[in-house]
Amino acid sequence: MNDSAFSESAARLCSACGMCCNGVLFHGMAVQPEDSLRALAAKGLRARRRDGELQFQQPCPAHEGNCCRIYTERPQRCRAFDCRQLLAVSAGQITEAQAMEKIQEARKRSDRVRELLEMLGDDRTKRPLATRCAGVFTPPLDPSPQAEALRAELRRAMTALEEMLAKEFRTGPGQ
Ligand code: SF4
Ligand code: SF4
Repeated sequence: MNDSAFSESAARLCSACGMCCNGVLFHGMAVQPEDSLRALAAKGLRARRRDGELQFQQPCPAHEGNCCRIYTERPQRCRAFDCRQLLAVSAGQITEAQAMEKIQEARKRSDRVRELLEMLGDDRTKRPLATRCAGVFTPPLDPSPQAEALRAELRRAMTALEEMLAKEFRTGPGQ
């Protein structure tokens, strides 16, 4: 696939996805030497130290309506990241339609996780999905059978989502 065709394809896929910006795929993106913390802070991006690394937090506040509102000024890690689906489309290993199917399935799984979190009383929509899930399993826990059943379902839903993200989207550590 040539560069122009790939850019168009990537734009369609990313605008239907957003998972590397909205806290589903990552907790944050590592700040790089080329990033201007001051300029990006003025755009609403805050950096925080996590696991010994300075990261822009996710969900990213620049992600609006499944688009990046600071696209031309986005951090270096955002520019460098292509998920497995994009890489496979770029290499001609799969079609855009096949990648779209994977995105839709992953989005369906993440939507289910969010639904279950809400049913369990978690409304921290500005935190990464994995952080929200960890919070729901932190004592003290609601001992009612209904809450236990929801937590069991959430565990299954999160496992199914994580398996898919690891296999079909993540490309390596340290994003
Ligand atoms: S996970 Fe892939 S398809 Fe989804 S927004 Fe990020 S780069 Fe685009
Ligand atoms: S800066 Fe743009 S590309 Fe980077 S995480 Fe935020 S919304 Fe996504």
